[in-house]
Amino acid sequence: MTVTTTGPLPDAPYDVAVIGAGVVGSAIARELARHRGLRVALVEANGDVGEGTSKANTAILHTGFDAVPGSLEARLMREGSALLAGYAAETGIPLERTGALLVAWDADQHAVLPELAAKARRNGVDDTRILEPAELYAREPRLGPGALSALAVPGESIICPWTTTLAYATQAVLAGVDLHLGCRVRRIRDRAGRHEVTSGRGVLHARYLVNAAGLDADAVDALIGRHDFTVSPRRGQLLVYDTFARALVRHILLPVPTALGKGVLVAPTVHGNVLLGPTAEDLHDKRATESTAEGLAALREKGRRILPDLLDEEVTAVYAGLRAATEHDDYQIRADAERRTVTVGGIRSTGLTASLGIASHVAGLLADAGLDLPAPDDLPPLRMPSLGRDTPRPCEQPALVAADPAYGTLVCYCERVSRGEVRDALAAPVPPASLAGLRRRTRVLSGRCQGFACGAQVRDLFERSRAVGPVTGAPPWGAAGSG
Ligand SMILES: Cc1cc2nc3c(=O)[nH]c(=O)nc-3n(C[C@H](O)[C@H](O)[C@H](O)COP(=O)(O)OP(=O)(O)OC[C@H]3O[C@@H](n4cnc5c(N)ncnc54)[C@H](O)[C@@H]3O)c2cc1C
Repeated sequence: MTVTTTGPLPDAPYDVAVIGAGVVGSAIARELARHRGLRVALVEANGDVGEGTSKANTAILHTGFDAVPGSLEARLMREGSALLAGYAAETGIPLERTGALLVAWDADQHAVLPELAAKARRNGVDDTRILEPAELYAREPRLGPGALSALAVPGESIICPWTTTLAYATQAVLAGVDLHLGCRVRRIRDRAGRHEVTSGRGVLHARYLVNAAGLDADAVDALIGRHDFTVSPRRGQLLVYDTFARALVRHILLPVPTALGKGVLVAPTVHGNVLLGPTAEDLHDKRATESTAEGLAALREKGRRILPDLLDEEVTAVYAGLRAATEHDDYQIRADAERRTVTVGGIRSTGLTASLGIASHVAGLLADAGLDLPAPDDLPPLRMPSLGRDTPRPCEQPALVAADPAYGTLVCYCERVSRGEVRDALAAPVPPASLAGLRRRTRVLSGRCQGFACGAQVRDLFERSRAVGPVTGAPPWGAAGSG
């Protein structure tokens, strides 16, 4: 089990190096880890997994009902969605099948709903239904006035995006993948049938490369000598409402999509918050993840129509993510057998949903490109700490607290996070590199006080763990709150 953050990289060559540990690269590394005997490296520029677009999305596990029928995206979403729902149940990733209501606010939108239902059927989603206003308002009593109808899509779900990436990376590492963090790839040379990959932490060698670099997939492709697409970041800003707002909404409330995208939605989260967003802003700067006053004002304006009472609730956070849009409409996933590479680009607004579908597709492409894949084996079992609002937190489980009082000692009162959970996260196979990483793993600092009450104590625990190294004597990682 190897996770490295500093120092030189191993001399021994890898069979495959996956560049980028977002939800997509981590899923690919996990898929390859099933083929025991294959030496796999997961190479990430940041100090943690899931620090790119994968940490800042709308957290919906889509059915793919509105994808372009016949596209690669439609197929991989359909396959990925089913695989991820099963994986979430197996590993404890928080997931709620809330269903979505695609609301028609005017006659044009109302007229489009039957077409959308037909498109859903072509995408294999047969259980949509058009709701008249009486049923719509019975299901969503706080919906703004004036809705004409809605298309109900029962299979749309909400999921924890942070636990998903972390679960993939953790299972990959437990199965023998080397995760190299803080390792930005800067140059790639072909040396006698092997890629010489130069990073900020030195050189590694690999027979095959997978480019899963998200927003930088075009830049990494250029290092390989390919140019098939250009990534243009499309920013999505979001508002996060406090848990008091959660009672206002039962489903994911979607607008009727336009040519510009899926539009602004209101969605509950598995952590008990409510999201309003995202915007869709085409930019040039791939690092422009700041929120803007105009963007947030535009969201509030749209939100007022969808769920007017939401606007009276407290906002606990705002964030923005960048979709990796390209000049093409579909995913850009290509194998180059001669170069021994697979590029995974253009995974715009559905990569969380499709991640496991993409991973299995990429493994097939690597085999087609000549990589010998040993027969797949079972992966080490994994149970993630549950951060979902519908499972009891460790502090609410008397047997757990009796066995280990650290689970009864609260650090964060807003989110009811115990010292035991923080300890476990800090000692985990893929530990956090920052307070933000600890927040994504435990929910500390995520509540309505945003760390005002617990910030100093959390920082102290974090700094101390970095000074003394992983805590020893902790219970097996994953035991807490595994529900
Ligand atoms: C606002 C918004 C809402 C969304 N909502 C949803 C949703 O509800 N459901 C859904 O399924 N999808 C959604 N998405 C899409 C989803 O978040 C993305 O498709 C997915 O996160 C892409 O994952 P990735 O691994 O390809 O990219 P990333 O997460 O960006 O990972 C790429 C990684 O590559 C690393 N990297 C880049 N260059 C190098 C290099 N040279 N060397 C080493 N490492 C490198 C980066 O540091 C990064 O960590 C949304 C996206 C946005 C922006």
